[in-house]
Amino acid sequence: MKTNDCIIIDDLTAFANHGVLPEEKTMGQKFLISLKLYMDIYPAAKNDDISKSVDYAEVCAFITEFTKKNRCKLIEAAAVSIADELLIRYERISAVEITLKKPWAPIGLPVDQVAVCAKRSRHRAYIGIGSNLGDKKAYLEGAVKAIDSDRRCTVRRVSDFIVTKPVGPVKQDDFLNGCIEVDTLYSPHELLDLLHTVENDAGRKRLIHWGPRTLDLDILLYDSVMLHDDTLTIPHPEMRKRGFVLEPLSEIAPFVKDPVTGECVIALYERLKNNGTT
Ligand code: AMP
Repeated sequence: MKTNDCIIIDDLTAFANHGVLPEEKTMGQKFLISLKLYMDIYPAAKNDDISKSVDYAEVCAFITEFTKKNRCKLIEAAAVSIADELLIRYERISAVEITLKKPWAPIGLPVDQVAVCAKRSRHRAYIGIGSNLGDKKAYLEGAVKAIDSDRRCTVRRVSDFIVTKPVGPVKQDDFLNGCIEVDTLYSPHELLDLLHTVENDAGRKRLIHWGPRTLDLDILLYDSVMLHDDTLTIPHPEMRKRGFVLEPLSEIAPFVKDPVTGECVIALYERLKNNGTT
């Protein structure tokens, strides 16, 4: 749920060793951390009950400790890792806005402070998974496990795996296909990087376009994002034409909308079936 409610923490001070320069790493310096922790505060307000909120004293203690232990070269990396860590630890928090300030930045010029701001939040993605080489079921199950074991991803649902005929000009074995629902802190491109790593770890070789593969992972939907660039198109451009995608996707996400057509997945699948092209 999107909410404007938040807990605000301003200028928590921590002494830590983030920095590129050797003296920053050895001597350390002061950092100021400001946060907006977005969450629905109504359950806590209604019951006047801290167990239904996030304890800001605990958050401050955790961040102080984490900022000291987790050493980064860049404040960009430090800020994102703090935000992600809070989202991983506290399920109630739906998004984190962080400003990390470095008042003593050794740049040789008078400056009050340098800072980075970042916003990280939870996203829901649907991923198509397929295999038509070797132990196909083991490849699909391995992919689900690998994605779920990434700290920034949680696999929420897994469809049945279905046997499907290959599409395209290359003669090859039948596929085993499925879909998964994933909650993730990654941006679309970060998620694509993870999927490529999981494919590569499964021995995927990109030898023939449309050819046989141990593992194929596609981002089908990501929130209601519409995106197109050199490496990524979301929603997946072939999704609406493929029964082997829409059948398992409509099992786990029938009423999720395709942001391009405004239609839900089950309607796309019914139409494809009626056109006799699955
Ligand atoms: P594939 O042959 O299915 O593994 O896809 C090859 C390339 O398609 C990938 O390396 C991606 O850069 C690109 N691509 C574009 N859109 C998507 C998407 N929605 N999901 C996965 N890959 C995509």
